[in-house]
Amino acid sequence: MSHIKKINIENLTRVNLAKTLEILALKPFIANQIWQWIYRKGKFNFSEMSNVSKLNIRILQDKFVFNNFQIVNPKTSFDGTIKFLVKFEDGNIVESVFIPEETRATLCISSQIGCTLSCKFCHTGTQTLVRNLEPAEIVSQIILTKNLINDWDDNHKKLTNLVFMGMGEPFFNYDNLATAIKIICDPQGLNFSKKRITISTSGLVPEILRCSNELKTNLAISLHATNDKLRNEIMGINKKYPLNQLFEACKIYNQQNPDQKITFEYVMLKDINDSRQHAHELVDLIKKYNINCKVNLIPFNQWQGCDYKNSSIDNIKVFQEILQKNKLIATIRKTRGSDVMGACGQLKSESQRPKKSSS
Ligand code: SAH
Ligand code: SF4
Repeated sequence: MSHIKKINIENLTRVNLAKTLEILALKPFIANQIWQWIYRKGKFNFSEMSNVSKLNIRILQDKFVFNNFQIVNPKTSFDGTIKFLVKFEDGNIVESVFIPEETRATLCISSQIGCTLSCKFCHTGTQTLVRNLEPAEIVSQIILTKNLINDWDDNHKKLTNLVFMGMGEPFFNYDNLATAIKIICDPQGLNFSKKRITISTSGLVPEILRCSNELKTNLAISLHATNDKLRNEIMGINKKYPLNQLFEACKIYNQQNPDQKITFEYVMLKDINDSRQHAHELVDLIKKYNINCKVNLIPFNQWQGCDYKNSSIDNIKVFQEILQKNKLIATIRKTRGSDVMGACGQLKSESQRPKKSSS
């Protein structure tokens, strides 16, 4: 047996796969054939690739391996949402959530195991960062979902949208995220349009600017506060990138991606950020920087160990009306999958140790 570590083929973009094949003295077009078997037909096994010669299959098997990740414990909510765990080869686990709706179906993808940040309202934030996910581990959440819901018929795609709103801060894992996006958007494979992908960030300004130039997906900002004092308190990242820097970056994102609206996510915390005055502050902030955006008001999902309470729906509606009267697009997010702990901010792999409470 060879001692050379085999390459996980699912970590490669198609271009890099073709380059690796050239080094093996194989024809680069075989990369396209392999790619289509994997990402169009869901075949994760060289021996099933009937248009590749037996000799080439042996060469490929010597050089590459496929993921051996598993879905653990899929739970279906009364509303059709499926939350499941993906177990990687080192035993680590992340969570993904599949959310079917009438006209589309969205997968909420994790980008890290745990999170370095500790936003006070977020359950994931109580878990220390274990590590970044590799590109294959990010993409595998899509593949495993497609297997789970039997979605390999190109003419009737069931999974239509992707949101990076699972565990972790995607922009702290920028390079692997960028490779994963290349794989996901490759027209010969999974063929997702960037218009159907949204990356959510807590507000990492340098990576917002990189994304604006390079990835050009939809952008969602976890805003949650309308002034620096409050945002510093509930989201520590604001001390590094305060609101003026964040909004300047959003403005550049708008300029470089004029056909996109930025989404501001705003979790409604009772008596913390949900007053009429906060609503007016939010209007002023957005108007000051003239951001092309929509605001998504998120009912807070309570979890044990967190002191915050959720705003009443009436209160959320009052807040929404103030935004709408001031000509902003404002929606209220439907809470999905909360009975299986699959709703926003509830994701956490139970196997991991919590952060110290002082963090
Ligand atoms: N780290 C990135 C991606 C995670 S997205 C980010 O923070 O944007 C998860 C979304 O759910 C974020 O908008 C987050 O602020 C929000 N969220 C976190 N905890 C929540 C909770 N308990 N209830 C509702 N939304 C929550
Ligand atoms: Fe991390 Fe986002 Fe949760 Fe903050 S809200 S702790 S950045 S996952």
